[in-house]
Amino acid sequence: MPPGAPCPRRYPDRSMFLKRLVACAALLLSAAGVGAVTLLQVSSSTGAVPTTARSGPSAPPDLPARATTPRSREAGRDRAEERDQAERRGSETDIDWKKSTAVGLPTAGELIDGVRLPAEGRHYFTWDPVRWTASNDAGRLYGTDRLIRMILDIAEAHAGANPGAPRMAVGDLSRRYGGSFDGSYGVLQEFGVGGGTLGHYSHQNGLDVDVYYPRSDGLERGPDSLEDIDLDLSQKLVDRFVAAGAEGVFVGPNTGLTGPTGIVQPLDRHDDHIHVRLPPL
Ligand SMILES: [Zn+2]
Repeated sequence: MPPGAPCPRRYPDRSMFLKRLVACAALLLSAAGVGAVTLLQVSSSTGAVPTTARSGPSAPPDLPARATTPRSREAGRDRAEERDQAERRGSETDIDWKKSTAVGLPTAGELIDGVRLPAEGRHYFTWDPVRWTASNDAGRLYGTDRLIRMILDIAEAHAGANPGAPRMAVGDLSRRYGGSFDGSYGVLQEFGVGGGTLGHYSHQNGLDVDVYYPRSDGLERGPDSLEDIDLDLSQKLVDRFVAAGAEGVFVGPNTGLTGPTGIVQPLDRHDDHIHVRLPPL
């Protein structure tokens, strides 16, 4: 029977019918065999596992490959977006942890192997006291690993206990190697008004951090007046710093914030932020 000839339906005798039937069946099996081999070759080149004959004629052999490509692209895009968001947030996973050493005193010291707090995190943002804007300069955000850990832990606990509260506002820590942090590094604002303190007297050995009082309007910025301060949230932060083992928590004399005598102390020029000091080890 010539290739391509249609299989006959009626034959004059039985033997002729059987011969034609066998020839026709052989032709069909041969065609199916070629098709199966082709499918296996294409499938193995795409790495897809052939399932049934249904994926042959009714579905192009490259369909599985085309079907997986958008999924993998999508997953890659998701991962890239997560990384971008983490970088924008200054994810805590970006922190280069080291064992730091605070040398000398907060008022006359230095910092060895300081850890830099990222510009912002999930539960905190940083506030530049010189430019009175977010975020703070990276060179002003170094502390001992113990101080950085305390900031992250308290920011997280504060957020968890106060849903809807603004993220904790972190101001200056120390410079990269500690040392003087005087007016040559910028004039500190108070309530966003220039001409305030000429730099820090302390903040020299990675044990000090300034935290701006949370605002009652929920904005993530330093308070611009006493009326902006959420005193309830502020007292909760003071309490957390005391519980975390702070040696000193300096608060504004006009805020009314309180705590254990000798630890929580009113101090001039702290009406817009808390100054927290960890004890040396
Ligand atoms: Zn301070």
